[in-house]
Amino acid sequence: MEEIVWLAQLIRESKKTIVFTGAGVSTESGIPDFRSPGGIWSKYDPEDFTIQRFLSSLDARKTLWKMSAEGELLMEAEPNPAHCAIAELHQLGKLDCVITQNIDNLHQKAGVPEDRVLELHGNMQWVVCLGCHSRFPLLQILQKVKGGTEVPDCPDCQGILKPDVVFFGEALPQDAFCEAARRTQKCDLFIVVGSTLTVYPAADIPIYAGEAGIRLAIVNLTPTPLDHYATVVIQGEAGDILPRVMERVKLS
Ligand code: NAD
Repeated sequence: MEEIVWLAQLIRESKKTIVFTGAGVSTESGIPDFRSPGGIWSKYDPEDFTIQRFLSSLDARKTLWKMSAEGELLMEAEPNPAHCAIAELHQLGKLDCVITQNIDNLHQKAGVPEDRVLELHGNMQWVVCLGCHSRFPLLQILQKVKGGTEVPDCPDCQGILKPDVVFFGEALPQDAFCEAARRTQKCDLFIVVGSTLTVYPAADIPIYAGEAGIRLAIVNLTPTPLDHYATVVIQGEAGDILPRVMERVKLS
């Protein structure tokens, strides 16, 4: 496919590549995305995941913890060939950083160092107390849920516990967002993988890249609103496309 050769060429010419990922990079690891048919929003009501609802409704908290217990699969998921191809970019010295909307920790599991992964929506492995701000491993808290506690509270202060991920209506972690915006201005290639690019403000970051005239590549199953900005658009499965791109990169 001509586009694969083209993207490989852009990577060869790049010294600082940023990869921006969404839920689509992890579907081949068995984690459904939100908006595809059969995705998470076909099973749950997004309204249950606003921060206002979570704080004001015990039922919403029950749903959340039930979903988290079912979602333990997320903790067992393994990186797929797309995550591994992105980690290879790091091994080749091409990767500036990964900016991810995902909360699944799979880029780190694939071998991208922690300090090269900017998580815009938090990380599912952790739970935070909204009272005393202590953090606990999710698995520790899920023990309680499995033991029959429908809504676990903080072991230290009995405050409300919340997965350390960004809910609708909540601000993004400013450090990660500002660092992502700063690094984007300085990269020379910005590759989007597996995102609808419709979740804001995360989707502002690739717009900054497009507006700054940085080469933009998009690898996604379906069209995105930024396709017209992109130097190259590849429609297909990331776990198929990215390893083929990396094979080409390594040919030179
Ligand atoms: P999204 O669900 O809105 O869209 C996913 C996109 O990926 C779609 O355009 C789809 O066509 C594409 N896609 C699906 N499988 C693909 C594949 N194998 N290869 C290439 N493309 C593929 O996801 P989003 O844009 O990331 O936004 C939704 C929000 O959901 C994000 O904020 C993220 O925090 C959260 N989320 C995260 C996870 C996770 O951590 N794995 C899972 C679900 C949702």
